[in-house]
Amino acid sequence: MPRKPLIAANWKMYKTPVQSQEFMKLFLPLVANHGRDEIVVCPSFTSISVVIAAATGSGVAVGAQNMHFADEGAFTGETSPLMLKALGATHVILGHSERRQYFAETDEIINKKLKTALQHQLIPIVCVGEVLAEREAGKTEEVLLRQTRGVLAGITASEAVPIVIAYEPVWAIGTGKTATPQLAAEAHSVIRKEVANLLGAETAANLRILYGGSVKPDNATALMNEEEIDGALVGGASLDPQSFAKIVNY
Ligand code: PEP
Repeated sequence: MPRKPLIAANWKMYKTPVQSQEFMKLFLPLVANHGRDEIVVCPSFTSISVVIAAATGSGVAVGAQNMHFADEGAFTGETSPLMLKALGATHVILGHSERRQYFAETDEIINKKLKTALQHQLIPIVCVGEVLAEREAGKTEEVLLRQTRGVLAGITASEAVPIVIAYEPVWAIGTGKTATPQLAAEAHSVIRKEVANLLGAETAANLRILYGGSVKPDNATALMNEEEIDGALVGGASLDPQSFAKIVNY
């Protein structure tokens, strides 16, 4: 079974509900009947409902950018998987580098979130990736192995089926510096081999690994042409409907 590519928009902390609706109105006609790739839009929590309402019947799925690992509790300001499910969200981004960097998320926390997402049938898009200093010190592989092992700890092969991993070199996020397709493919292959070690060859062969980091309409095709690259997690370029549609229609 070939892996179906997945192209996800990460809107970060941008767009009010009205702006989100306007995006969907312009975006959906540009991807109507698009069946080749799975398309997922991840707005901020406050726009999830309106984006789901707009996307109904379109084939475009809607996800969150984060969630707590508990079902409920005294965690002021947090959002639980049950709340996301109740809205109709199907996907959730976990462990984005901005969550790791600014909100102190560790592999251990991300692993807990991943387990909860799986329990609630939310499709997790789990982010891993090295910072510039780690790449320059020749530690990319070490970092990817540590993060892959950490986020997948205690998860079995059968539980891992829905998991999507996003390789996002931190130095490429929002900087305009994209990893070359070859460099991204090398990193994906490090991750895939480690998943094979941990969970078996079949799980690894079926695992979708997305690339993220300054994906734009003009570099999407070259990245997606790489056998190892199964889709994209797109930040900045997903905020504009035409630009994100061009990426989806690479
Ligand atoms: C991201 O936010 O996951 C991302 C990859 O951002 P950008 O495309 O802007 O680099």
